[in-house]
This record gives sequence, structure tokens and C-alpha cells, in this order.
Amino acid sequence: MTRQAGLDGRRLGPVTVIFGASGGVFPHCVSLLVDGGTEKAVIDPGADAEALRRWARVVTRILNTHYHFDHIHGNRLFPNATVMLNQVEQECFPRLESVAGKLGIQEIYGDAGVAEWIRAVAAGTSPPAPFSPAFRPEWWFSTRVPAEAYPYGEFAIGSVRMVMVHSPGHTAGLACPFFPEEGLVYTADIDLTRFGPWYFGTDGDIDAFIRSSRALLALDAEWYLTGHEEGLLRRSEFAERLEGYLAIIDKRDRRILDLLGQGVSEERLTDHGVLYPTRYHVDPWVRMWDTLGTRKHVARLRARGLVGRR
Ligand SMILES: [Zn+2]
Repeated sequence: MTRQAGLDGRRLGPVTVIFGASGGVFPHCVSLLVDGGTEKAVIDPGADAEALRRWARVVTRILNTHYHFDHIHGNRLFPNATVMLNQVEQECFPRLESVAGKLGIQEIYGDAGVAEWIRAVAAGTSPPAPFSPAFRPEWWFSTRVPAEAYPYGEFAIGSVRMVMVHSPGHTAGLACPFFPEEGLVYTADIDLTRFGPWYFGTDGDIDAFIRSSRALLALDAEWYLTGHEEGLLRRSEFAERLEGYLAIIDKRDRRILDLLGQGVSEERLTDHGVLYPTRYHVDPWVRMWDTLGTRKHVARLRARGLVGRR
């Protein structure tokens, strides 16, 4: 029997892939249902609510790979489940101040901005942000249950063995669940989307992202399931596409060096839309991420001697 035996596109042994109607397009993600017999877990309930609700009665645990909105907004659909998050980010639920610190709100908008954001999502009365889930009320409703921490490394859901692979870079705590018996790894937001790698939060790190992405290829896995859009890929396809995906980081570097070469100051780089087209900057979070991500690129280029000292 090969590892792919039993794969029907949505199911691999005890693991069911829930693509949902959205197909994992942000702000949704691909979710997993893990049937360990006595214990059943949903990993990253960010697929659409319709697809997830049918599991609401049987799920005993929710495992969030990281604290981002698109991977947690369905936590609220499982009120009786234990919520588990990686140990680096555990404090985020129910403490939204921690989310604000990691995501960049603290760094860009300060204490007042953090307080205002928490008020807004708790009240649920803010108009939605145009291009981000900034003010979605699920930020509040899906983080009320305090999270327990799962360990990095060996972990089990009932009879199903997993390894929670610490994969910092996208966030500092991201865990990619690896199922050794099934040869399957959920790569979450190491997602191979055309947009490219995302490490724009305060807790994001470009070099760590690159290292963590390549480290997934050291796993004895045949199936790579991305958290968004791309879906289930064979190892060879994931390996082939990964380098093109990571090369987008170099393109961003070149764009910054071009702009600096044209005389644009470091402070004004974001005005040129380095990471997102400027038409998206009307969204306060998109502008925030463009600013933070650009700063990370500049710091990295400076460390390499490619941007002058200040
Ligand atoms: Zn994420």
C-alpha cells in the first residue's frame, strides 16, 4: 500500500480536509478534521461556517496553528471544545493585547490604537475594513475561551500521532502539523500563493520564514497541504514551487533598492506600495503591514551592507 492509498482528494486516513466553499481563499483557510476515535479535533477552523458546522457536535478540541484571523474565526462554532494554540502564542486568547502586539497594531498605532481596536471588535459595531478582517467581530467571539498550549514535537489526538513542527517566520509561533503515519504535513501559511510569503506582523521574520519553509522538505512527507488556495500537493510539486515562492522575497528586495536608488527616502517607501498596491492602503491594516514588512526588508538589506548605515 502506498501512502496515497485512501486519498480521495479530501481524506487521508483519519484526516479529512475541509476546503469549504471558499477553497481557502483569504480570509478563509483550509481546515482539517482529525478523527482520533475518542478525541476529534479540528485544525484551524477557518473554512466557511457552513462546511464546519456539521462537525460542531463531535469536535472535542480545536488546534490553531497560529493566532491569525483566517485560521481562528471559526473557533466560535465549537463552544464546547478545548482550544489549543502553540506555546509561543497561547497568551493571545483571550488577551487581545497580545494579538495586537504580535500583529503590529501596538508598533504602528500605540497603546491608544490597541485599546480602540479591542473596543471596536468587542462592540462589533465598526464598519468592516475594506481589504482586511481588521474589525470583524469574530476576533472577539472566537478568542473568549482561554487557550491551552500544545507542545512542539510529538502530540496525539486520540489514536492519531502528530508532530507539531515549529515553523517561525510567518508568525513567531506557527506550528505545522505533520502526520507521520499518513505522510501529510499541513503547511498553513507557507502557502505558495501568488502573493508570496507573508511575514509582515511585528512577530514576522524573513530569514526564519525561508528556513522554516525549506525545513518542511526534511520531513518524511509525501503530501503537502497548504492553508490557502493551492490545496494538496505532492512533495515534488511543493519542492519545485517553493523556490519560486521564496524568490518573491528577492523581488521585493529589488523593488526597495530601486526606489532607494531613485532617491525615495526610507520613510517614504511605503507611499510607493512596496508590498501591496497603494489602492489597498485605505485599509489601516494593509498600510500597517506594508510599513512593517518594508521595514523588515530594509533592516535585512542593511545587515547585508546593501543599504547604507543611518
Ligand atoms: Zn497567518
